[in-house]
Amino acid sequence: MDSRTSRLPTRRLGKTDLEVTIVGFGGIPIQMVSEQEAIAAVRRAFDLGVNFFDTARGYSNSEERIGKALEGRDYLVATKSGNREPEGVYQDVLRSLENLRRDRIDLYQLHGVNDDDDLGKALAPGGALEGLRRARDEGKIAHIGITGHRRETLVNAVRQCDDFASVQVPFNLVETEILETLVPLCQEHNVGIIAMKPVGGGNFTNAPLAVKWCLNQPITVAIPGMANVQEVEQDIAVAGQAELTADEQAQLDSMRSELDQRTCRRCRYCEPCPNGVQIGMLLHGRSIIRRMGAARWLEWGALDVIASADNCTECGECLAKCPYNLPIPELIREALDYYRTIPELTKE
Ligand code: SF4
Ligand code: SF4
Repeated sequence: MDSRTSRLPTRRLGKTDLEVTIVGFGGIPIQMVSEQEAIAAVRRAFDLGVNFFDTARGYSNSEERIGKALEGRDYLVATKSGNREPEGVYQDVLRSLENLRRDRIDLYQLHGVNDDDDLGKALAPGGALEGLRRARDEGKIAHIGITGHRRETLVNAVRQCDDFASVQVPFNLVETEILETLVPLCQEHNVGIIAMKPVGGGNFTNAPLAVKWCLNQPITVAIPGMANVQEVEQDIAVAGQAELTADEQAQLDSMRSELDQRTCRRCRYCEPCPNGVQIGMLLHGRSIIRRMGAARWLEWGALDVIASADNCTECGECLAKCPYNLPIPELIREALDYYRTIPELTKE
């Protein structure tokens, strides 16, 4: 059954045979809304022509909701697992198939490979890649990808392993560093680029314009997170539009200059803090709350993260290590001000 009302431009995902729409559906935020709203958002995206849906084992009910919303429809699905054992990741593939109500998953990604040690273990004999190769050999998945926040690790992944058909990495008008190394390398190795966080994890004011900027860059597909029908319609409306106008470019320049010195890239070069402050998580928490909800962050230890800020002596050691010259202690204070407005995070 195909209820689509429009066709969106597509691009080939690296060395695969998958033609993916340039805007895909980022499946994180549908965890935060009711099942009815989630299903309506997923179906609206499909009806507007989106054919690529990205989710993860780690996004609670996101796989189930996408599976339920799109059962019987013709679409491409990418999901991922953070399990690093061959049998564990293989079992996750089986769970994903069940949740998504599919016989095969188009792209299965190693989730959140954020340092070279983790990458080395995943690629070594007895590592997670073995589990995904087994699933691919058995036809349960079509292609293997990798996701992460640290571009150097993803560069090493592409250099060291031909199995990866795609890399998924943060990319937006502020976080453009992949254009220098990762993008040319992926082009050379014919590896697709899936841009996560095209609207800065929900931090950019004009989300559709930020998505449009992203689509004008040398990536394969941008996957803004979408929680409801309105967000779906706004983000997808820009997919068929042409190049940026001079007025839009001016708005983007203004957004970029406002955000560049306030946006943490989650690279964690500033860590470890000598006093145990969990800098990266403190600065990333706001984006987690916006996309997944405070309850989820609490499950991951938000209170310990927030409490660690008490140890900051403003020694300045982290400032010298941040390649983006962010005013880290000031940003931590701002983040704490925000967390104090979230009732679930306010301790007795
Ligand atoms: S504060 Fe700077 S160094 Fe630390 S994670 Fe953020 S961007 Fe990276
Ligand atoms: S300024 Fe604060 S967060 Fe940065 S290194 Fe010093 S104690 Fe840690």
